[in-house]
Amino acid sequence: MERRLPSAASQPTGKVAPIGHEPAAATKPSPSSQPSPSSQPSPTPRPKRGVPEGLWQKCDGCQQTIYRKEAEEILNVCPKCGFHWYVSAATRIEQLCDAGTFEEWDAGLRPTDPLGFRDKKPYAERLVAEQKRTGLSDAALTGTGMIRARRVACGVTDSSFIMGSMGSVVGERLTRLIERATPQKLPLIIISASGGGARMHEGILSLMQMAKVSAALARYSRAGGLFISVLTNPTMGGVAASFASLGDLCFAEPRALIGFAGPRTIKATIRVELPKGFQTSEFLLEHGFVDRIVARKDLKSEIARAIDYCTR
Ligand SMILES: [Zn+2]
Repeated sequence: MERRLPSAASQPTGKVAPIGHEPAAATKPSPSSQPSPSSQPSPTPRPKRGVPEGLWQKCDGCQQTIYRKEAEEILNVCPKCGFHWYVSAATRIEQLCDAGTFEEWDAGLRPTDPLGFRDKKPYAERLVAEQKRTGLSDAALTGTGMIRARRVACGVTDSSFIMGSMGSVVGERLTRLIERATPQKLPLIIISASGGGARMHEGILSLMQMAKVSAALARYSRAGGLFISVLTNPTMGGVAASFASLGDLCFAEPRALIGFAGPRTIKATIRVELPKGFQTSEFLLEHGFVDRIVARKDLKSEIARAIDYCTR
């Protein structure tokens, strides 16, 4: 039992941790029943079962086991079914910005625990653990960079850090990003990957971030700025209900889950059978909430094209 706890928290930092999903090697390790040879050093995070850890990954889209390298080569998209897998905020920046052009802003902002909140464990401890596991200080990365030689202000949220939820730091980083983009007349790109919405651990301070970021966006819009919001899997809750839905253009990755409350919650509340494909990018495109579905490989070009088209 004691050996399993660290393993659950030791997803690969940054690069390609699957969301809500342990790598194949992690299924049912049952360390107690395994006659572990004494020659093997025990403190390795996860016991190996035949396949080297991280080489294969089960796809959430088609449930097939995929050679991870193959998916990585096409920007972490399933080569079998085209499902867009999780990518970390840092990898997003790499995929989106011209090499070496990104400069992070407000990296020094750090989350605090104003309420002394605890659920299964104290929030303060959770923050330290999440920071160690993901290599991020909080769930958003913001700054400026070039997209095909066009300077932009750009922010990304990362669903691996407390579900990408918006606490004070995420809200403040995004607000400052927008407020800097305004006088500098920079196009603004925010890529959302937040299954969490407002971060309950910070209570009302999280909720007010929705209004704060939205107000900054309104000023940005009045000043004539172009905001492209990119919705990825998942974009839910208070993130979907604030900045993520406020783009002048809303792009979405294929088959992303986008909504406010999850489909199961809605179904249980209103007791109505939900339409097929409810809360997917494709459904939202059909109903006018999304302007275009853009595959990850095309995102950079599409953003550059939209900037040229809208800012001339
Ligand atoms: Zn697949």
